[in-house]
Formats: sequence, C-alpha cells, structure tokens
Amino acid sequence: MLPRTQQFLRASASVRSISARTISSLKACIVGAGPAGYYTAQRLLKRNDHIHIDIIDRLPVPFGLVRFGVAPDHPEVKNAINTFTQTATGFGDRCRFIGNVEVGKDVRISELEKHYDILVMTYGAENDRKFGIPGEDAPGVYAAREFVGWYNGLPKFADLAIDLSKAKSAVVFGQGNVALDIARLLLMPIDKLAKTDICQHALDAIAASTLSSIHIVGRRGPLQASFTIKEFRELTKLPGVQGHVPSYAENINIDELPRPKRRVAELMKNKAGSSGDADGGKSWHLDFLLTPREVLTSNGRVSALRCTKNKLVGDDIMSQRAEPTDESHDISCDLIVRSIGYQSRCIDERIPFDTKTYTIPNEHGRVVGKAGLYCSGWVKRGPVGVLASTMTDAFDTADSILEDIDSGLTSSSQTGETHHWSHSLGKDLVDFTGWENINQEEISRGENKGKPREKIVNINEMLRIAKR
Ligand code: FAD
Ligand code: NAP
Repeated sequence: MLPRTQQFLRASASVRSISARTISSLKACIVGAGPAGYYTAQRLLKRNDHIHIDIIDRLPVPFGLVRFGVAPDHPEVKNAINTFTQTATGFGDRCRFIGNVEVGKDVRISELEKHYDILVMTYGAENDRKFGIPGEDAPGVYAAREFVGWYNGLPKFADLAIDLSKAKSAVVFGQGNVALDIARLLLMPIDKLAKTDICQHALDAIAASTLSSIHIVGRRGPLQASFTIKEFRELTKLPGVQGHVPSYAENINIDELPRPKRRVAELMKNKAGSSGDADGGKSWHLDFLLTPREVLTSNGRVSALRCTKNKLVGDDIMSQRAEPTDESHDISCDLIVRSIGYQSRCIDERIPFDTKTYTIPNEHGRVVGKAGLYCSGWVKRGPVGVLASTMTDAFDTADSILEDIDSGLTSSSQTGETHHWSHSLGKDLVDFTGWENINQEEISRGENKGKPREKIVNINEMLRIAKR
C-alpha cells in the first residue's frame, strides 16, 4: 500500500489524467444514502470531474442513521445533513438520489454491474446482535434498533406498540452510547423532549411513562464501558434524576488510565456509592459484571432479567474479559432494551460477506477479489464509530477508488444511457427534489407544534408528498 500522502498525490493526479484523456464519464453507484454514502460521494465528486454518481436507498428519504439513529435531543449532530445536501445539490446531475429502491430485492447487484463502472456498498448495519438466551423474544423485550427506530420514525418500527404507562423499571442492556441515548430519553423532562424532532407517538408514550428506574447493565466493569464522557455527563445532569454507580467504582485508580477513560472514570468515581432513587423521583443505575442468562416472564410479559455474575480476568485493565462465576442475580423489570450493537448482513450473493465479522471483506474499501466493487461505513468495518470516523473511513475508500481510476484498474466501460434501469422497476422512486418536498412538509408540520420537524413515518405518505 502506498503511504497516504502519496495516495493523495496520485488521487489528485487522477483528476488531471482523466481530464486529459477524452473518455466517457465514469458511472458510480453507491448503495446506501447514509453518512458513508454521502461522504464517499463528496470525496469522489470533488476530486474527479468525470464521475457521475447515483446514490440508492431502500427508503424514500436519505441520511440513514443521522435521521433514524442520532438522538432527537442532539440536533447539532444532525447538522451533517447540511454537508450531505451540498453534495447532493452542488454537482448538478453528477449526483442523483434514487430513493425507495432496495438493492438485493428490487434490483440485483448483477443488474447494477451492467450499468455502472464502480459499485460502492454503504448500506450500514440493519440487523442487531442477540443475546441468544431463553425468553429473548418475550413481549416487552426490544432491540435498541427497534426502540431507536420507534422514537425516530423509522417506518418499519413506527407502529411498535410500546406501552410505558404501567412500567416501573427498565433494563437497558449494554453500556455503549446507544444505551445512554435510550436511558436519557426515557428519563428526560418531557417539556424538553417535546421541543425535539422525536416522533409524536413516542413523545405521547414517554409522557405517559410511569418508569422510575432504569438499569444500564454491562457484562464487564466500569473501565470497559464503551460510552463516552459527553454522553455520560449528560446522563448525570438530568434534572430530578438520581444516578447510582456501585461503590466499588470508588476504588478505580484514575492515574493508570488513558485520558478519555480517565474523565469517564472520574465522573463514575464521583457518583460511586450515591443513593439510588430520588424521593418518588427517577433514577438510573449502572450495573456491572452481569451476563444475561434468561428473560423471566409473568403473565406472558417480562418480569425480570436473570443474569450470571462475572469476574474480570486478564492483566491489561483496559481489555479485561468477563468470566462467569457460579452466582446469579435477577433484575426486576417490565421492559428490556437489548443495546449490544447493530449487525450488518449480506444483501446479495454477489457481494462477498464474512459471516464471522458481519462485514464485507476489504482492503481500504476494495472488496477482496471483486474489481470495481468497494465498501465503506459500518458494512466495511462493523457497527462502531461516530460520524467523524465514518467520514474518515469513507474518504479512505474514495481514495482507493480514485487510485484505481488513476492506475487504469477501473475505467469507463459503459455506453451512453438511453433508458435508466430504475424506470423498469415499476415502482415510485424519489429523487432529491422529492426528498426536499418531504423535508419541507415535515418542517411545516413541526412548526405548528414548536418542534424542528414532525417526521412522516408512513412510506406511502412520503411517496405521495415527494411527487408534489
Ligand atoms: P447508515 O447510517 O446505517 O446508512 C446506511 C443506509 O443504507 C441507510 O440509509 C439504509 O436505509 C440504506 N440501506 C440499507 N440496506 C439497503 C439496501 N439493501 N438497499 C439500499 N439501501 C439500503 N454518531 C455521532 O457522531 N453522533 C451521534 O450522536 C450518533 N448517534 C448514533 C445513534 C445511534 C442509535 C446509532 C446506531 C449510531 C449513532 N451514531 C452517532 C453513529 C453514526 O450514526 C454512524 O457512524 C453512521 O450512521 C454510519 O453510517 P453508514 O452510512 O455506514 O450507515
Ligand atoms: P458499542 O459502543 O459497541 O456498545 C455495545 C455494548 O454492548 C458494549 O457495552 C458491549 O460490551 C455490549 N455487548 C456487545 N456484545 C454483547 C453480548 N454478546 N453480550 C453482552 N453485552 C454485549 O455500540 P453502540 O452503543 O451500539 O454504539 C455504536 C456506535 O455508535 C459507537 O461507536 C457509538 O459511539 C456510536 N454512537 C455515538 C453516539 C454519540 O456520539 N452520541 C450515540 C450513539 C451511538 P463489551 O464491551 O463487553 O463487548
């Protein structure tokens, strides 16, 4: 592999060499209009004047987890949409959005290969990891992906009948930032939540919630929790909510820790041993060293999560593993949200897929053994990383593509387009103007309620509005 600076030079040289050759334009198709898709497109469009890109999404609306994942009370994160919109609108017809097309179902990769020189898989991680324990499918157990999709208006989960009006206690299993997002939204003052772009159905359910305590549970110890300081601090600052961290966190030796971990550990230490429930109020509890073993039910609904107690093994405190003991511990609860990570899947047999890592095998985004096929984002490296790392990763893939164009490995083999493949699908498609119609409608529905937007959650309604 060339050092990155040399790759950059070669990539920018490719712009010149391509423009010197009078070749027809290169056609690229990006599958997935999330951050990885738009960041990859941005880099390619800026660095090569001859690339034309179609960005396909299975939904009628773009932006993936920025719309359907990022918490409603984090509007500043959603500003990334402005950058994606510049990419979508700033290059004329060199960048097209084609929404409401599911690759692998509505159109196969073999078909797309006939029409494009370059295919980039950026379809994210649309499944979730499971515990693999008895009772996991009982009513009252949700995957974080479902729960987050429900409050953020993902059409598939918008109709989930989540009733919080009788629940007292919830378990959010997993100690990543997604788990903290969920716990925070459930504990936040409702008047604050009402000013966000949370969907009305979720706002109503949370307003009616009787939940008073939320256990955020991890299989390892305080130092291995994967949430970050900003998100943890937000949890500790919720008004009227008591935080509880087990007293053994007082013994953490902060001086031994790398900087980002030190700040999280310091905050945990400050909270350690603090009392549980506020008087009649709400509380969150960090519970460590527990592995789920069984979901217990009563009258057909969740009543507790039975866990095995763990101990930590391994010398390096940052990467210690959990090992089960003979002891067990039940956490009474009326609701369980399993927040142990998203998971990617294979959408078409022509795309190599590693069923151990649930990613597409690749080298710097080049799919192994498949010239012209690339990947970026969560399907490339697994379901971890914030927008900044997804951007860096997308640029890495784009640079590989530019390098392959420059070296002649990828070239234009397609003839002029007389009939776009998507016209034969026989279904309504949404272009970027169609999305802008939906966007406007959502913003105006939100204005009436003092919210930034009220999301449309029904696909047929989206399609109708897109056509206006
Ligand atoms: P995605 O965003 O999932 O995009 C994939 C796209 O592919 C989707 O639009 C999907 O509809 C489409 N697609 C899927 N299958 C197909 C198919 N078969 N055909 C066509 N299209 C398809 N990062 C932050 O920096 N700050 C945050 O606050 C933050 N909050 C988060 C909250 C949650 C709940 C989650 C899960 C993640 C959060 N992240 C946050 C991380 C961030 O969202 C990811 O880094 C980023 O979205 C990954 O981008 P991606 O494009 O790989 O995947
Ligand atoms: P994550 O950070 O990887 O956390 C997953 C959690 O699940 C960890 O506590 C992990 O514990 C646990 N886990 C995994 N497999 C398990 C199993 N089989 N049994 C029990 N526990 C298991 O993932 P995430 O919370 O889904 O977040 C995904 C990415 O999005 C992260 O990079 C996150 O930072 C980002 N994100 C960012 C924000 C933000 O910036 N505000 C918000 C949300 C998400 P172990 O460590 O023991 O494996």
